[in-house]
Amino acid sequence: MNDSKEMPSPITISSPLHSLPGVGPARAALLARLDLQSLQDLLFYFPRDYQTVHRSITIGELRPDEMASIDGEVTEIELRGAGTGKSILGVLIRQENAFLRAIWFNQPYLAEKYQVGQRLQLTGKPRKRGLRWEMNHPQVVPLDDGYSAPDRATILLPVYRLTEGVQQNFLRPLIARIVCEYAEIVPETLPAEIIERHSLASIGQALRGIHVPQDDPDLARAKRRFVFQELLVMQLALAMKRHRQQLAHAAPKLPNDRRIDGRIRRLLPFPLTSGQEQVIQEICADLAQDVPMQRLLHGEVGSGKTIVAVYAMLLATVHGYQAAMMTPTEILARQHMLTLQRLLKKSRVRLQLLTGGMTAVERRNAADVIREGNVDLIVGTQAIVLGELEFAKLGLVVIDEQHKFGVQQRATLKQASLDPHYLVMTATPIPRTIAMTTYGDLDTSTLRGGPPGRQPVHTYWGTSEQRERWWQFVANKLREGRQAYVIAPMVDGNDDELATVEAVYESLVHGPLESFRVDIVHGRMSANEKELAMTAFREGKTQVLIATSVVEVGIDVPNAILMTIENAERFGLAQLHQLRGRVSRGPFSGYVCAFTGDVSDEGRQRLEAFVRTNDGFELAEIDLQLRGPGDLFGTRQHGMAPLRIADLREDDQTLQETRLAASDIIQADPELQQAGFERLRAMVLRRYGEKLALSQVG
Ligand code: ADP
Ligand code: MG
Repeated sequence: MNDSKEMPSPITISSPLHSLPGVGPARAALLARLDLQSLQDLLFYFPRDYQTVHRSITIGELRPDEMASIDGEVTEIELRGAGTGKSILGVLIRQENAFLRAIWFNQPYLAEKYQVGQRLQLTGKPRKRGLRWEMNHPQVVPLDDGYSAPDRATILLPVYRLTEGVQQNFLRPLIARIVCEYAEIVPETLPAEIIERHSLASIGQALRGIHVPQDDPDLARAKRRFVFQELLVMQLALAMKRHRQQLAHAAPKLPNDRRIDGRIRRLLPFPLTSGQEQVIQEICADLAQDVPMQRLLHGEVGSGKTIVAVYAMLLATVHGYQAAMMTPTEILARQHMLTLQRLLKKSRVRLQLLTGGMTAVERRNAADVIREGNVDLIVGTQAIVLGELEFAKLGLVVIDEQHKFGVQQRATLKQASLDPHYLVMTATPIPRTIAMTTYGDLDTSTLRGGPPGRQPVHTYWGTSEQRERWWQFVANKLREGRQAYVIAPMVDGNDDELATVEAVYESLVHGPLESFRVDIVHGRMSANEKELAMTAFREGKTQVLIATSVVEVGIDVPNAILMTIENAERFGLAQLHQLRGRVSRGPFSGYVCAFTGDVSDEGRQRLEAFVRTNDGFELAEIDLQLRGPGDLFGTRQHGMAPLRIADLREDDQTLQETRLAASDIIQADPELQQAGFERLRAMVLRRYGEKLALSQVG
């Protein structure tokens, strides 16, 4: 055993970088600045981008207006007209005895970027000016020491993230050398059959393809392998979680039949749409099983999700079980309570509200009757219901407008014996890829279409010159008996624009709406105050309601058909669409006018999309493209590890492929115990074990 001290220890992927030939302590210290400690760290330090370098030709070979690359040395940098707004930067490049001038207009800061003596490759369209060649705005690649011209038409150079004292020309050749030497010792994580079935590059090939790609297809193949692996690990974790949930938990069977269905339908105030029928069928199929339903219902704003939930809840009560509906806001809880009271007037179903706005005594009493089984349907705000509440016999939990909650909060209700079924409803449609990731442990139902007779909403993006006309239009409609919302992004603050509810209120009651009954509602008011304001509005006593986005979620006042959104650029696309959903609830056409302050480029695209289409499914996809999945739906807060390599905007196809593969694998081998899957299983647990609570069971 002592022998091993004398023998050079073999290099493994966990070897420290200083132990590698040609690295040593000084270089290892530099690499440590990037948090690279082991061989593995370095091999998996992926480029953030790639630069295409073309094979250079000589200046003598240039043809006018033909794209070409030339190498040369900077001999002169001349900046004219800096500081005047119009500048010309000329960088003279020498190649033996020939010269070419690179020219940039109005980018004076580039002068700092280049130094005399530096070697550059320039790519662009050359022009002959007298005897000398010029290139306007060429693409530039600095040629590092030791760089050799490519022997192919183009090569791809990796571009790494750098830090103080660590340069591209240090990192690039170092990583290239290490990768070529050691990529093959990295143990394969994926089982051979998966590699084969999905035509993936091996880990060694992929590492080389990522760091030293031969060409675009080579790079694409390498990327695909890592994207596939990352998504497969995630989908395996989600499939494992689903499987365990079904295995470890039993839920009450709540079967439906004609008699029950008839009893429920008699209570409903309208015939269901075909979309509603469809999702109710999907839900009932789940509820009939003794494994807990874990279903996501998403659909267009105003498509009628509430009644679907009511149907499912009534099915639970028919079987003697309680059902609880949770909402993100108190206003919405109270509204659902009203709806249920109206629907169930003639039935014996007992209702109980439970919100933070109730007094401590009221809440305690509510908790008592819920525990003793003296109520059937409970409607409450999520925060309260998730507290220490005990249920006598909980069969179904509905979570409305899930948009606002985190995933972890989703399923932590206390329950004595059987687990309840879960129905999660989102505020707006969600992109397919988000359904497969953030909500990937749920089955999905999609509610399309809306109730019949729904009128279209007209959406405008108003300029400040159009304000007067808009308010005249609003006033006319108010005189006809309609009602209006005005939305501002903030409650108060020292903003003198129309960003706050207060400022909007002042400007309207002393201006265009002075002869109307105007009120305010926002999240800072007490539950009681909010309730009073909402009731007055619902009953038509208030004509105009100025609000923050608390009205965003779920509020249903069909006579309110006008909406003005101030500082609309401060709202997300899903939020805007959700807001618009407030004014398309009844028999009248709705009108939305968005006014904006300074708008960023992305904000402009968002508003243009908002005006262009009223299709929530389309808007959800646009939102994903514009913002990226990190922000969208708070993917991070939802507890899913952020993706490092895969991008949900591009890797839709691979996501689907891995989802199917994962589901097959877990079905055959729920705990990934078959030979060849050890590393994959370890990766799944390392990355998602804690997040999805996979480690405790199994
Ligand atoms: P959301 O899906 O946004 O939660 P709601 O459930 O609040 O939508 O429904 C929006 C409006 O449509 C409500 O006023 C509701 O009563 C009405 N509604 C729902 N389904 C139907 C239907 N099948 N026929 C007529 N009106 C319906
Ligand atoms: Mg709703």
